[in-house]
Amino acid sequence: MASLSDDSRCPCGTGEVFGNCCAPVLRGKPAPTAEALMRSRFTAFAVSDAAHLLATWHPSTRPGTLDLDESVLWQRLDILATSGGPFDDAARVEFAAHYRSRPGTPPEERVRGVQRENSRFVRESGRWYYVDGA
Ligand SMILES: [Zn+2]
Repeated sequence: MASLSDDSRCPCGTGEVFGNCCAPVLRGKPAPTAEALMRSRFTAFAVSDAAHLLATWHPSTRPGTLDLDESVLWQRLDILATSGGPFDDAARVEFAAHYRSRPGTPPEERVRGVQRENSRFVRESGRWYYVDGA
């Protein structure tokens, strides 16, 4: 896992510093909302924290292992829509995650793009989990 200091800007784009944003969730604190969990999972992609991605994946859909694509940088997250209030145990978060090849990638292999997804989350025993996305 790449290290990120608590006073650097959080990759998820809230404008908060990492230590006040996704860091506590990456360290195991329950995310208060599905959106907060989604943000922490984007940040986990950005810092290559596969353990957090697996830990927050619902057991019914969780892959056995996860190989992160280290050739891309996850640059920016836009939350497009959320559904589900604070008292709901199911929610959806629609987002666009922007990525591009790491610096140093040969020109013919460079990619950049946007992954859009409408993700489904459930809360069990006070913890939000990612279920799947479409
Ligand atoms: Zn964050």
